[in-house]
Amino acid sequence: MNDLRELYQQLILDHNQNPRNFRAIEDASHQAHGHNPLCGDEIVLTLKLEDNVVLDIGFQGSGCAISKASASIMTTVLKGKTRAEALNLLEHFHRMATTGEVDEPKLGKLAALADVYKYPVRVKCAMLAWRTLEASLEEQPTTVSTE
Ligand code: ZN
Repeated sequence: MNDLRELYQQLILDHNQNPRNFRAIEDASHQAHGHNPLCGDEIVLTLKLEDNVVLDIGFQGSGCAISKASASIMTTVLKGKTRAEALNLLEHFHRMATTGEVDEPKLGKLAALADVYKYPVRVKCAMLAWRTLEASLEEQPTTVSTE
């Protein structure tokens, strides 16, 4: 278990230092801006969906290590997923982030953020990218706040 924890820590550090898909998607079909006033995290998410499948996804912004790593890992798992699958993952991720309950086969790498449930302030950092995703998929061009 400790080895796993260490692996997860490294995964978070790695994604924070070298965020994946850290860019704006050109000709994006969906986008949203998310803000976590509690910590000062900001994210702009752009996606390209075709036939309800995520073809491409990118994020930009600034924030703490958890918010950045969470957004980065999220973008790596969402490519190729349908809208319904993405929203289903959001539900599983939210459960994990608030209760620590991990559905490992479903969550995969996202399980690296399982420990945030122990730190209520950090839950919002981890959820920011997902809340922004949810807002972008609702197609109401908006800004979401975790507050
Ligand atoms: Zn944060």
